Amino acid sequence: MDNPSAQCPILQLAPEVILLFTNELPDHAKVLLSQTCRDLRQILRQQGLPPLSAREHVRLLVHLSRANPHVWACATCKARHRVTRNDLWGDQRLSSCPRLTVPWRPGGFFAVNHVRVQLALKYTRLGMHSARIRSYLKRLLRYEGGVRMVKDGRGLNIFVSSSRPRVVAGRFLVKYTWEYALDSASSAPTPLPMLVLCHHQKLARPAEGVVWGEERKQLVRAVEGALSDDLSGVEYCRSCPFCPTDFAVRIFDEGMVIEAWKDFGPEDGPGNPTWRSHSSTEARRNPSDFGRVRRLYYGVLKGGPLS
Ligand SMILES: [Zn+2]
Ligand SMILES: [Zn+2]
Repeated sequence: MDNPSAQCPILQLAPEVILLFTNELPDHAKVLLSQTCRDLRQILRQQGLPPLSAREHVRLLVHLSRANPHVWACATCKARHRVTRNDLWGDQRLSSCPRLTVPWRPGGFFAVNHVRVQLALKYTRLGMHSARIRSYLKRLLRYEGGVRMVKDGRGLNIFVSSSRPRVVAGRFLVKYTWEYALDSASSAPTPLPMLVLCHHQKLARPAEGVVWGEERKQLVRAVEGALSDDLSGVEYCRSCPFCPTDFAVRIFDEGMVIEAWKDFGPEDGPGNPTWRSHSSTEARRNPSDFGRVRRLYYGVLKGGPLS
């Protein structure tokens, strides 16, 4: 082929038009695009490639590692590490960075280590023809459950919690379930333990002097509604306005069940906006997206996956 550029539709556009599109890309994607061919590199360099922030550098490392199943990109030291057994089997709430002497613990049952997200999405994409990668993927997407005993003045209470990850449409989703025994005399959970559903929705009283706005009371409102109506098995569905978490509360004669569906985002670095929304309040969800994570988890989402 004498002139490969003649076969590439995007290169038929004027350079200034191409730059209009590429200006919309995050910085790491501009650098990635500049590495795909000489013509695009020359066009992108007309405006100068941006110096990458630490966050964008890690995103670039994730995308440069897409074909290599043996490495993952670490946000702690901005480098790639080789995958170890601990990355596949370890406590997912701990950082996998081998350079940290004191493990960082984000805390909370719902917390997911980003290495798990990176590897599960990569192995799903690569795994079809490799039995070893399929077995790694099985570990990363394993079901986890636990029983917590809480003793108070009225006796022993048992709370069961579980998580079940899935990869759907190139995104890492997790369904969480919490089951509570109810006190049959008072029709109230006894005691109602603090439940952290996401960074923004908690089943707890705010700290002294702190006032929660209505947007942070979505879980509290769903539980209040379910308890006061006392309709066995009826779902009270709500969503967090800040992060992609949908949830449902149901009351039964013998207890209360809370289920939550979370979207931890696509194959990208921890700088991805979906991932970051789980630990910040910068993002705000479009109300028309409420319920989409749950539908995506079960593969019944119409209109394509989330962007
Ligand atoms: Zn590291
Ligand atoms: Zn949230």
